[in-house]
This record gives sequence, C-alpha cells and structure tokens, in this order.
Amino acid sequence: MTYPILDVNMETIRSNARIIMELCGEHGIEPAAVIKGFNAMPRIMDVIVGEGYKCLASSRIPHLRAIREAGYPVLTMGLRIPMRSEAEDVVRYCDISLESELETINLLNGEAERRKVVHKIILMRDLGDLREGIIESERFVDTACLVEKNLPNIELLGVGSNLSCYGSVRPTAKNLSVLAGDAVEIERLIGRRLDVVSGGASTSIPLLVRGEMPRGINHLRVGGALMHRVEIFGLRDDELPGLSDDTFILRAEIIEIGEKPTYPIGELAVDCFGNAGSYEDRGLRRRALLAVGAFDIASFEKISPLDSGARILGCSSDHMIVDIHDSDRLYRLGGTMEFRLRYQSMLWATANGMIEKNYRAS
Ligand SMILES: *Cc1c(COP(=O)(O)O)cnc(C)c1O
Repeated sequence: MTYPILDVNMETIRSNARIIMELCGEHGIEPAAVIKGFNAMPRIMDVIVGEGYKCLASSRIPHLRAIREAGYPVLTMGLRIPMRSEAEDVVRYCDISLESELETINLLNGEAERRKVVHKIILMRDLGDLREGIIESERFVDTACLVEKNLPNIELLGVGSNLSCYGSVRPTAKNLSVLAGDAVEIERLIGRRLDVVSGGASTSIPLLVRGEMPRGINHLRVGGALMHRVEIFGLRDDELPGLSDDTFILRAEIIEIGEKPTYPIGELAVDCFGNAGSYEDRGLRRRALLAVGAFDIASFEKISPLDSGARILGCSSDHMIVDIHDSDRLYRLGGTMEFRLRYQSMLWATANGMIEKNYRAS
C-alpha cells in the first residue's frame, strides 16, 4: 500500500453509533443515519445498520441507489431538495425525501403515479437558517394540507427543519417549538397524526442530552455526530461520555525533511489558490513536507496532527508543510505523520479514490 492511507476505526464508529442510538431511544427519537459525509462506504454502513438504524439518508441519489442495490433492510431518505432533473430517480431510489417546493412535489406525484407507488415526503420548514424550507408558517401549513388533499401518490409522512448549515443558527427549544407547533396545527387540519417531526441534525443532540427537546419532535437526521463529537457543538465533555473523534485517521508520508527559513524569499504575490499568504518570520525551523494536500483533505485547517508538538503551516493541492521543530518525535524521510479529520476533510478523503482505505477492527 502506498500513502496516504485512511485508517477507518470500525469499533470507534460502532461505539459512537450505539451511544447516539441509545440517547435517541431514551428520548423517543428515531434517528436516521446520514451517510453522505463518509461517501456511503459499505463497511461503515454495515456497522451502522448492525446497530439498529432503520433509515439511511443522503443528499446524493447515487448513495441511495447503492443502498437499494446492495439490499440493505432499511428505508432510504433523500436529504437535498430534489432537482427537477432527478425527480424520476428520487421516486425510484428514495422511500422518503425532504421537500419544500409544491411544484416539485407535484412532479414527484406524477412520477410516483407512473411507477404505481406512493412516495413519502417530509415537508421542510425554514426556522431561520435560510437554506431550504418554507419560511412562512401559514404557507407551510397550507402546503402540507394541499399535499395531503390533492396528491394521491404522495404521502405526507411528516415535517422537519434544518439548522446550523447556512445561517449558523443553533437549534433551541424555542425555534424547534415553532416546528412542533406547526405540526400540531397541520395534524388538526388534516385530521390525523403525522408520523415524523424531524428536529434537525447532529447539532440538535445537546437538546436531547439536556432534556430540552420540545415535545412532539420525534426524529433526527444524524451524520457528523456518528464520526466526530465536535460536530455536536456546545456539548460539554461530561455530557455524553464515550463519543470519540478517532474514527478516521489519515496517514501521510514525509517526502522531504529538514530546516528551512520560515519567511519566503523574494517578492510576495499570492499562493497557488490565489490567496495572499501570511508568514511569520521565526528563523530557521525544522519542517516536514508531506505527500498529501488540499486534493485529499479540502483544507489543512480541517485536519489536526495527532502529534501535539507539530503544527501545519500550509498546503497546496498535493503537498503539506508541517512545522516539527518543537516535536519530541523522531521523524525521518519515508516516515509518516497522522492526522485526525474533521467533517469536511472526511468528505474529501473518503471520496478520493487515490487514498487507500484501511479498515481496523479496533
Ligand atoms: C447533511 C444533512 C444532515 C446531517 O447533518 P449532520 O450535521 O452531519 O448530522 C441532516 N439533514 C440534512 C437536510 C442534511 O443535508
């Protein structure tokens, strides 16, 4: 095997998946496992399904298609509001999809009719994060009623909302109560209960831990938290013990090592990505050049060295420069350095076919 190598710690992922499942169970929440962040890697999905997750969700239809074709005994959920151009595939490969445009839902109804199936939807309400969803309460409730009344091949499974994506808005008892309230109003108007009231993603987990989740919310879509506890922002260390960040470790090889100046020599313009760099003159320091770059990890700011004495200075597409001057480890040419990944670097690294994946039992 040549580097970079992505170590996938299967037992850590299993343990994280179990902790989240138990927490949800204690609060009457059904979690859907969001598998887009690790590119629907089958070995990981096996673990997650083995832990009892009944629904696998992704924003990407090819992931959901692969789940269907592999025959997993789960429901598939499409997370991104469908493009018109993928309406047929949405009905074909998703049992459930998140929706916000009546015109698109109409199109799905037509597709579902052609295929002689009933397609389930969760109607999305925008609570202020300003990505997807209907932002006016009245139009939201009206749309739900129209779907219920007029579209025989669409089943209104429930309602949901998404936060902390574009607008950085934190899920709170207050904003999720608005969703729960709208759900009650819709139930009154359509004369039946909704199956699902989906109160967000990993960032909603602190509300569960603290017992602050509003009544009526019975579903979450959890991705990042299965892999990195930092994705559950605001959660204190003692609040949900056992969750680990060491699910993916990237190992990269040292291709040049030695001392160099810390301030570039010559007239400065911009770096390879067109950004003005910022450099601190710290004199001559020992550094390692690694055969890994933005191509593999998105940005060096989205990974961190396991060696606390090392500091990443920067990267271009295929190279990364790490200051190891203060490290007490003995690095050498041909040796490797290890990095913990965050969500964005996990997205890149798992999708990159040039990175070897190494599944570790523990
Ligand atoms: C990606 C996504 C999620 C999962 O988010 P995490 O922060 O990874 O838990 C949930 N809902 C929607 C609509 C998404 O696109």
